[in-house]
Amino acid sequence: MPENVFDNPGRKVRLDDLSAEPPKGMNRGKAGKRFAALGKDLFELQDAMFGAKVHSVLVVLQGRDGAGKDGTIKHVVGCLNPRGVAVTSFGVPTQEEREHDFLWRVHRHAPRLGEFAIFNRSHYEDVLVARIHGLAPKGLWQERFGHIRDFEELLAEHGTIVLKYFLHITKKEQKERLLAREAEPETAWKLNPNDWKERDCWDDYTRAYEDAISRTAAKHAPWIVVPANSKWYRNLVIAESIVGALRDRRKDWQKKLEQMGKAGKAGLAAYRKRRARP
Ligand code: AMP
Ligand code: MG
Repeated sequence: MPENVFDNPGRKVRLDDLSAEPPKGMNRGKAGKRFAALGKDLFELQDAMFGAKVHSVLVVLQGRDGAGKDGTIKHVVGCLNPRGVAVTSFGVPTQEEREHDFLWRVHRHAPRLGEFAIFNRSHYEDVLVARIHGLAPKGLWQERFGHIRDFEELLAEHGTIVLKYFLHITKKEQKERLLAREAEPETAWKLNPNDWKERDCWDDYTRAYEDAISRTAAKHAPWIVVPANSKWYRNLVIAESIVGALRDRRKDWQKKLEQMGKAGKAGLAAYRKRRARP
């Protein structure tokens, strides 16, 4: 298992020990070529999954402000056929959401068989921001790790391939990105003083993320810590990881699609026979 994949509950995570940079020998050109090929694979795999309706995919995108959640959606999710994808962004809970349990707003966006659900932030905010800003008492947010594990297990039992990505950037990279947003008229609309406020809690978030990853890592719901200082490498890692997870199931889909094809042909033959009768 690569060192950036966490699928073992309880394995300690130390983000500072994990690189946010692309490995040596990797460059934008190589990554771009590989990414283009993966985009095609992704599209084809999605098509088979959509038809077979045996599995679904939940992609959870978590990361600090400026880590590239929106960019990932644009570039990686952009490779998919929109027919089978729903993207949901989770912001500050509304009054109605706050008056329910924390999974209420999330569960109804879980993917149906054949489809992709992309979560831009997720139920994990309730053990991150809620923990750091005291929006829930300690006893309550700690209980949530167990609820999250059970929830993701439930989804997996229903055929959902759960993939959770932490977009790992350095504090320096975040500063550059937030300042770049200010400098560019095209991105200035994203400016939010809250991003700088949250940045002051950098170390608290590091600890909260480490706990969340470690306590909810599972074979059926792995965390992938994505080196995200370079956008092109981030996209490549995520695309590679999704394609890898889907490829493992392709045989199941092929079998189901063949069965469906046979049943369809038999139905059609019977229909033609009936029509041909005098
Ligand atoms: P953005 O993703 O930049 O649009 O910002 C969304 C904001 O909503 C972030 O500051 C999150 O921390 C906040 N948020 C998301 N989920 C929750 C939650 N469950 N409780 C409190 N704040 C949240
Ligand atoms: Mg933001």
